[in-house]
Amino acid sequence: MKVYIKTYGCQMNERDSEAAAGMLSSLGYGITDNEEDADILIFNTCSVRDQAERKAIGKIGILTRLKKRKPGIYIGIMGCMAQNRGEELLQELPHVDFVIGTGKLHKLPEILAETIKKRNRQLHLEEDHGVLTGMGTHFLGTNQISAYIAITRGCNRFCSYCIVPYVRGREISREIGDIRHEAEILVGQGIKEIMLLGQNVAAFGLGGDINPPPPEVSPFADLLAELNTIPGLKRLRFTSPYPSYFNDKLIRTMAALPTVCHSLHLPLQSGSDHILKAMNRHYTGKQYLEIAGKLRSAMPDITFSTDVIVGFPGETEEDFNATRAVMNEVGYDNAYIFKYSPRQGTAAAKMEDQVPQEVKEQRNQILLDDLARRVAEHNSRLKGKIVEVMVEGPSKRNSERWCGRTSTNKVAIFDPSDGMKSGDMVMVKVNRTTAMSLFGEVCAIPEEKP
Ligand code: SF4
Repeated sequence: MKVYIKTYGCQMNERDSEAAAGMLSSLGYGITDNEEDADILIFNTCSVRDQAERKAIGKIGILTRLKKRKPGIYIGIMGCMAQNRGEELLQELPHVDFVIGTGKLHKLPEILAETIKKRNRQLHLEEDHGVLTGMGTHFLGTNQISAYIAITRGCNRFCSYCIVPYVRGREISREIGDIRHEAEILVGQGIKEIMLLGQNVAAFGLGGDINPPPPEVSPFADLLAELNTIPGLKRLRFTSPYPSYFNDKLIRTMAALPTVCHSLHLPLQSGSDHILKAMNRHYTGKQYLEIAGKLRSAMPDITFSTDVIVGFPGETEEDFNATRAVMNEVGYDNAYIFKYSPRQGTAAAKMEDQVPQEVKEQRNQILLDDLARRVAEHNSRLKGKIVEVMVEGPSKRNSERWCGRTSTNKVAIFDPSDGMKSGDMVMVKVNRTTAMSLFGEVCAIPEEKP
């Protein structure tokens, strides 16, 4: 039987879909990216925004026609929306065969087999810590050089706009040895770069304590140091960390480890202390700037990306300008700017003083313009410089040229040299830059790092 898996939402969902594909393919199911070809269609859904849920429901809704045409197919929903809406989905979408919440994803093969055997509808929403270790399978593509590893699940922070703690449950962390084992298998299969994932990744191993740890306590730093010793692993990245978990030990460890990339996603959300408080984010604009400053002192070439919400309830012009000021001071190279939209079930959805849509649009545009200007300027400073790049493969826009990425997450485009392959490290002399990319030529192959 062939399975089609459609993913909505974040990298954690992408990783869960990949793990699901890995589990099912190891049991003999085929994996297809064509829904017309599939006997089983699974939708891995997101609940972060109402719009994401509506989009998935709309898509699944129109599959009634497909099911009438092909009554032998199975349709399933998993992930955050499955957890959030559970029973309601089975009632509203009578052609759906199974709904699996975030705690039971590792049981997908059994639930699917049961659905097929009994031809009855299944609903599984219970919490189950087995999901932590039961989702370690991978489904890698040809020439794939980067892979995700989920190291924590859930979140304890309860930011007032966010539904994640309600749909993904309390934060739990895997064991370091278990993660190392998964990473070693991936490296043995040709993976050169690993992205560690968690809703609050730097809280790894802290037992769910919401107080940021003292200066010399960071199990996450210990994990980075452990993975850094895996022979053949060239790069480590991670996302998303909560700013206050960057203590001295973590910053020092990041700077000391050759595999840790000098590009960091550090969610700001707002630069206004009054809005940060309303968001239940436990840091101030000043503290955030201090953390970014320490990171930059330890790694002068580090680049930052961030998440920002404009138009949070009560956000005044002054609050917005505080956000803009922090953004300009940090000098992000990328930012995901969201116009606040109330998420049912969260504390912020009940707040008064919602900001008009047109004000959100204007603020969004101002930040996007700042960002574009800044990134073009940052990139132009690299003209004439030599940068180290991990080769990814032919560029999507022009397959005669190849692309790769610097440790600072800049995309570089260059002509391939003889024998070049994905995962190679090359030095590229930058001749031209745009806001999106660096263009250059390969000038030397660096020595292999131990
Ligand atoms: S840290 Fe805040 S925004 Fe991030 S997942 Fe947890 S509750 Fe949501």
